[in-house]
Amino acid sequence: DGRPDDDLLAGLNPQQREAVVYRGPALLIVAGAGSGKTSVLTRRIASLLRTKEAWPSQILAITFTNKAAGEMRERVEQLVGDSARGMWISTFHSACVRILRREAEQFGFTKSFTIYDSGDSRALIKRLVKEREADAYGHTPAGVQSRISKLKNELADAESYARQANMSDPAERMFVELFGDYQRELQRANAFDFDDLIGQTVYLFRAFPHVADVYRRRFRHILVDEYQDTNHAQYALIHELTRPVGTGKQGFESGGMMIFEPDPSTGSGAGGGSGTGDDAPASLTVVGDSDQSIYAFRGADIRNISEFEKDFPGAKVVLLEQNYRSSQNILSAANAVISNNFDRKDKRLWSADGPGEKIVGFTGYSQHDEAQFVADEVNALRRAGVDYSEMAVFYRTNSQSRALEEIFMRAAVPYKIMGGTRFYERAEIKDALAYLVAVANPADEMALRRIINKPRRGIGDVTVEAIARYAQSEGITFRDALANSSALGVGPKMQAAIAQLDQVLADATAIMLPASGELAPPTAVAEGLTLLLDRSGYRDALRMSRDAQDEARLENVDELIAVAREFARNNPEGTVIDFLAEVALVADSDDLEDASGSVSLMTLHTAKGLEYDAVFITGVEEDLIPHRISAGEPGGPAEERRLFYVGVTRARKRLYLSLAMTRAQFGEISVAMPSRFLQEIPADLVDWRQSPGDVNSRGGSQSRALNARPGSGSGGGQRWGSRIRHDDPPPLAPKSTSLDRFPNRIPAKLRDNGDMQLEAGDRIRHDDFGEGRVDAVTGEGAKRVAHVRFDSGGLKKLLIKVAPITKI
Ligand code: ATP
Ligand code: MG
Repeated sequence: DGRPDDDLLAGLNPQQREAVVYRGPALLIVAGAGSGKTSVLTRRIASLLRTKEAWPSQILAITFTNKAAGEMRERVEQLVGDSARGMWISTFHSACVRILRREAEQFGFTKSFTIYDSGDSRALIKRLVKEREADAYGHTPAGVQSRISKLKNELADAESYARQANMSDPAERMFVELFGDYQRELQRANAFDFDDLIGQTVYLFRAFPHVADVYRRRFRHILVDEYQDTNHAQYALIHELTRPVGTGKQGFESGGMMIFEPDPSTGSGAGGGSGTGDDAPASLTVVGDSDQSIYAFRGADIRNISEFEKDFPGAKVVLLEQNYRSSQNILSAANAVISNNFDRKDKRLWSADGPGEKIVGFTGYSQHDEAQFVADEVNALRRAGVDYSEMAVFYRTNSQSRALEEIFMRAAVPYKIMGGTRFYERAEIKDALAYLVAVANPADEMALRRIINKPRRGIGDVTVEAIARYAQSEGITFRDALANSSALGVGPKMQAAIAQLDQVLADATAIMLPASGELAPPTAVAEGLTLLLDRSGYRDALRMSRDAQDEARLENVDELIAVAREFARNNPEGTVIDFLAEVALVADSDDLEDASGSVSLMTLHTAKGLEYDAVFITGVEEDLIPHRISAGEPGGPAEERRLFYVGVTRARKRLYLSLAMTRAQFGEISVAMPSRFLQEIPADLVDWRQSPGDVNSRGGSQSRALNARPGSGSGGGQRWGSRIRHDDPPPLAPKSTSLDRFPNRIPAKLRDNGDMQLEAGDRIRHDDFGEGRVDAVTGEGAKRVAHVRFDSGGLKKLLIKVAPITKI
């Protein structure tokens, strides 16, 4: 006699259960990390389908990454079977691409539009800045790009911005010109940048209410994960979709922040039935955790969550408190750190699973030592039965991955870098994709300009400008001008080169986009791409090259063809346009590759929403986490703390926090300070294998550290971090003398002796070892080492910059 979704509720706690079965116009689920928000959202979808309250096509679920979308779809399909096909589970960007594909013709685009990633739009802005000589006004391409992006996330365009800008300031006027140029160029190229995908969809819905109504009727249930990271444009999109049918027009002129007001005439008050009558607003479920908001720099607005109840009067709010992911020690550390943020509702994560293992802390001498420690621990865990794929290493900045990669390769630890592989940002991949764009979207002149002389065909800037001029005078596109090579007024050799390129593009078009009525075969993209790269001579040029790197480039291009084949298998009806969109939407947090059997390496931002048995957070140092650039930003350090909190709460059973005393970055070696976040963690939660205190004050371990070069260690990977534990005698009275020798604490700061000038013959005093005489100084800069003979007898090597010494 049970409900058809009874089994979906099994094992859920009462609050989770309520979140799954509640029916009403608006539901907000707020909860800390790991409390089952995403799981509940997934089950809620399954429940709606299982009870036949919704067809799959009536569901729109938004996740933060494509990977998360894929996982959610899989979970729902597991719960309800294949009938779940037809649901839209996607990121904001993918959902908007689908909508724009259908509707672009409403407002001056065609459905074959291209999507400009950040590199593409940077290239365009660079050109515009140059054309207008805007650098004279202090404008850089990067600066202009980020300002435009911020404005677009606020749904401002060049005109609306101009209305409230200080137009008597020439630099401001110039910026407005650039913004306008940029938008016109995008339109001319039939292209949207990433921010436009959302912003233009909102514009579409506001300007064409009948179009919006189609989607309002269609999506009866809208569910959004990670709501704390929505920006204003995304917020507005959700609000457009959850208006009652036929009321879209109201919002159009209003601009600014839109307030949702249920229309009494539709009779869909709160607390009513399922609220899914045809013209009633869609039901909206959002889940989020304001402690995990980490995208303020991209315009995410925590207020979207805190003001939800105001925006949706009568909304049901469910709080989840129990954490099912991590053991209590990990949660206690997370609680302690995040409680240092002001302006938050105090919530404490708790687990029924008991304290679990202590957190492990480690300080390496250099980032290589740190990486070696991570690799050794990874191997130890592996021997203890933890799968590589259940381990992850996080860092704040992409450049930190290099040392880890080096050591992992040497230690034969299989790893995958998640996100940031930047495969699609490689020049050769961009070239190959530009060939495809030239076919798919002939209006995209930038793509054509990119490939017109790749491989070299002797077509230089002068010819390119001749083509552009001809196109302009004839009122045709750049692409069409290529087809008229004889009319361009260029020499016969040049004419032949242009005609040949035109022919290659035409032949590829015939394969990939056959005349109307015909359907391209699934393999068309791969075939067309192969044809383009072969007949254009692109692959041959790489093959014949003597540049060793070109071999790798050739492999990459081949890999792209393999991706196209894979695409054909998964999307038998997918066109070249779909393929390009999929590639463009591979957000940096996504990875097409499967990470099974390897350790995952990623930035803390990418780690959002994921979980692993063992997590290593590396580089837990001031200037990295919190990052240096956050120091000057209002709310910056608080956002960094949330980022750290996100990292900590990814761990199920084991958490490692590590740092390095010295770090080489951008060709400089600098001395690092332990992150303030380490000090916010109660000392009794952390087991310091090697603490900054040890390294700082104990000559013995320090000299070992200095002697131990990565890769030169004997004993098959046994490193100094673990060796210290075995070699050093245990403290005689550990409880009473914990102060300096076996510190379960972190010094407020690592000592920074700046550039203390020491030379042989100088006398120094060491906090622990007393006075001594400098025998010699070796090394350079921050790595200068003093060899000191202490009066008490010992000879020690000390890193001058950080050793607790004074010159006497
Ligand atoms: P985050 O804030 O990191 O996104 P979340 O709130 O979305 O976390 P989930 O990822 O849904 O949390 O769940 C965390 C873990 O807890 C998952 O492994 C999930 O399977 C498990 N879990 C959730 N609810 C329960 C439950 N009632 N019983 C057992 N395990 C649960
Ligand atoms: Mg989640």
